[in-house]
Amino acid sequence: MIIAGPANEENYEASREYSREKDALDPLRAFRNRFHFPETDSGEDAVYFTGNSLGLQPKTTKDYVDQELADWARLAVEGHFEAAHPWLPYHEFLTEKMAEVVGAKPIETVVMNSLTVNLHLLMVSFYRPSKERFKIMIEGKAFPSDQYAVKSQLAFHGIDPAEGLIEVTPRTGETWLRTEDIVAAIKEHGESLALVMFGGVNYYTGQAFDLDSISEAGHSVGAVVGFDLAHAAGNIHLRLHETGADFACWCSYKYLNSGPGGVAGVFVHERHKANFDLPRFSGWWGHDKDSRFQMGPDFKAIEGAEGWQISNPPIFQMAALMASLEIFSEAGMAKLSAKSKDLTGYLEFLLDDIGDERISVITPRDPNQRGCQLSIRVDGADRSLFERLSGQEVFADWREPDVIRVAPVPLYNSFEDVFRFSERLRKALGE
Ligand SMILES: *Cc1c(COP(=O)(O)O)cnc(C)c1O
Repeated sequence: MIIAGPANEENYEASREYSREKDALDPLRAFRNRFHFPETDSGEDAVYFTGNSLGLQPKTTKDYVDQELADWARLAVEGHFEAAHPWLPYHEFLTEKMAEVVGAKPIETVVMNSLTVNLHLLMVSFYRPSKERFKIMIEGKAFPSDQYAVKSQLAFHGIDPAEGLIEVTPRTGETWLRTEDIVAAIKEHGESLALVMFGGVNYYTGQAFDLDSISEAGHSVGAVVGFDLAHAAGNIHLRLHETGADFACWCSYKYLNSGPGGVAGVFVHERHKANFDLPRFSGWWGHDKDSRFQMGPDFKAIEGAEGWQISNPPIFQMAALMASLEIFSEAGMAKLSAKSKDLTGYLEFLLDDIGDERISVITPRDPNQRGCQLSIRVDGADRSLFERLSGQEVFADWREPDVIRVAPVPLYNSFEDVFRFSERLRKALGE
């Protein structure tokens, strides 16, 4: 089934020469050389389309981590003050650049912990059910960890998830959610909704949700609004502050290239910066910086997102993230987003060009409703197709029962990568 997409702005061509011409004109092409690509026997870079799962390592990461190892060796405990980047305020060195990536203000942003942990911590503060208002709404087929987190929060408050969890699913025969249906569902549950918690980009379909509309609708019924931006941060152009959600969280090892288990990001809207009545699970790193080392018994939160910190931060993980955020800051999300639309548009064109009836794209065709990822459904396919497709030369991702997810990342993928992938898929389908 081939669904006609919107007319491409470009007159794309299905040839290697054309893809190379596109690369030659790409203003961001030099960034590719700043990343390590997995090794292959042929010596050619792998087609790495799993940056939505684990981003590639910047070549500078090692220097950033080595710096902290050297300072620890040389200075030991004094490194908290004397290191090239002192460890005591280390998280602050990341705030501004992380805030830029998601379109937030520095006061709204902090880097801490890992994603699901942060989601829980934020729900401790922002999911405050009452007898009448107790439901949590999420997108259907949300990432499993988010489903577990919200269900366990409901249960923690003594609410049966079968009653308290509302999952919005696409219409029969459709693969992604219409904004009008999300908004209608929010209005329908209205005053019973305590929290609307959506993904920014769904990990399975690649759909980017209309965060402005969701935020507005959620607030209009008096609910709190939160976003999980794991597949959105570093992928789509976000304007978190303006969008107006109460909170958001995201990981940094996917599009943000901070390495396995990298330290995660948190957003708490400025309107809550001095809302010290919100319950929170506290620890000394969220305590007022001037009096933290007086080691007093009573917690006094720092204003803004920093006040949600608990523990002193993992410096090596933060060093790795710093290496990557420097690169994002140089490239800029606006430019990355423009290239992303072109790169993914080219992939879409080539998939159509294969002309195989078994292929359909379950990601929205509208470039504004997706990031770089396309999820390709192959009717009747099983894992053997994926095994013919992937391997040393091609990194893609298989999701049961029949979906291949691919993410050409604008920071380090090329138009030639996209062309090589399509040729490989064409061959695998024919075998
Ligand atoms: C990747 C991802 C996670 C992973 O959670 P961790 O706590 O980082 O292990 C959670 N939620 C979503 C939506 C994700 O995409």
